Amino acid sequence: MTKAKAKASAKKIKKEKKISKKKSRKTKMAKDNNRKTFPTSASVDEKKEIKTEDLILMQSPRGMHDILPGDQPYWNQIRRSLNHAFLEYGFQRIDTPILEYSNLFVRSIGKGTDIIDKEMYTFVTKGRDDVALRPEFTASIARAYIQHGMNILHKPVKLFSTGAVYRYDRPQEGRYREHRQANFDILGEQDPILDAQLIQLAGRVLRGLGIKNVQFQINSIGCPECRKEYLELLVSYFESKRNKLCHNCKKRLETNPLRILDCKEDKCMQVSAGAPQSIDHLCDECRVHFKHLLEYLDELEVSYVINSRLVRGLNYYTKTVFEIWSTGEGKKYSLGGGGRYDKLIETLGGESTPAIGFALGLDRLVMEMKRTKVKLYKETKPRIFLAQLGELAKKKSLKLFSDLERSGILTAESFGRGSLRSQLRTANRLGVDIALIIGQKEALDETVIVKNMSSGTQETVSREKLVALIKKILKNNNVVSVKPKK
Ligand code: AMP
Repeated sequence: MTKAKAKASAKKIKKEKKISKKKSRKTKMAKDNNRKTFPTSASVDEKKEIKTEDLILMQSPRGMHDILPGDQPYWNQIRRSLNHAFLEYGFQRIDTPILEYSNLFVRSIGKGTDIIDKEMYTFVTKGRDDVALRPEFTASIARAYIQHGMNILHKPVKLFSTGAVYRYDRPQEGRYREHRQANFDILGEQDPILDAQLIQLAGRVLRGLGIKNVQFQINSIGCPECRKEYLELLVSYFESKRNKLCHNCKKRLETNPLRILDCKEDKCMQVSAGAPQSIDHLCDECRVHFKHLLEYLDELEVSYVINSRLVRGLNYYTKTVFEIWSTGEGKKYSLGGGGRYDKLIETLGGESTPAIGFALGLDRLVMEMKRTKVKLYKETKPRIFLAQLGELAKKKSLKLFSDLERSGILTAESFGRGSLRSQLRTANRLGVDIALIIGQKEALDETVIVKNMSSGTQETVSREKLVALIKKILKNNNVVSVKPKK
């Protein structure tokens, strides 16, 4: 083949490829348009066909995802379980800003941690304030506790918060740059019974979600006094094995030696296996605290394992630290974690206030719920469908819809589109008990056709009697209507 011929045939192949790619994109779009149910985040993630130049317009920022209606049943289950748990355990909800002054986090979480050194989203505002998107909740809770003088409240002060947190990490499955957490904090009490209660509460939330296969890992990293001595021992141990540590851990030896213990590099894990353990070097107070915590957990029949390498990635922790791990098949994820932070409020300028808290990673909980195929609660679904035909009927049905809604009767409709046949098809698809039909005649007569969708029978009812009749039918069908609005 001549050079010119080869060039022409390469051009032809390229053109054909382009056409077939275009065609397959069109079929995919058509398929998506015909989709009857909302996609879930997982099915959307599979779409990787977007051109680079469209990326900024067509994609959420890297490591951040939409929570689509298809996934909301999982999130609703989480919201419901959290709401029950925080009320039952006497917590009050607090919402803090998504932004704080950066130095709040630097002071609380501490330099030498991954969050502060690498992962914070910081920026300077137009007013030259140095701010950061919150990478976690506890620092904000501590700030709010001091700012609003909560030290005068009856102790312990139990605060619950939930929302998005931001960490500029390398995104991968289960690790996002924006993820959501639920955070429980108990301030003003040092009794280990609260450590135990908080761990029990975490278990309660997970059980409420249907997540069963989890493991609680517990450790005590002592207080600043006993940790000083322990750190000296640890540093001298790791110094003696310096060549066997990864590049990062060599640096951690200077900045944050505790973190070497939870490095996931094989060679570091081997070195850590022989390292001194913090629980062998606790002062009397910390040892007794830990002993009592374990006794309380036994009493509560909460099973746990002691993980002497568990140190957590934030510097404010003292004494108890714990994490909750999935234990099913495949990759294991930490679903939540927390610990005591008895010195944090003081470090930030408040009065000495012992405290303990934990956070659950909600996106991870959704992953786990999907993986283990938990049973979802039945969502409240409309049992009534309102269909209309003609301009006057449309007007009348708008008012009827509002009357039904005020009476607490959840109603579906498809205002503004479709023949009566297609509207009834929709009613069928939604699985409602009753279809209400208003045509031209009914609109003039102030009546409504009430069609029983399972038997197919129908009757014409006057508008005044309609709400009472619907309530009666729903009651007979064992459907509870939502509470009427005042
Ligand atoms: P941490 O304070 O880092 O232990 O975070 C508490 C929980 O949030 C963890 O146990 C995870 O379940 C979850 N989590 C932490 N970082 C991420 C992330 N980058 N993406 C998703 N979930 C996360």
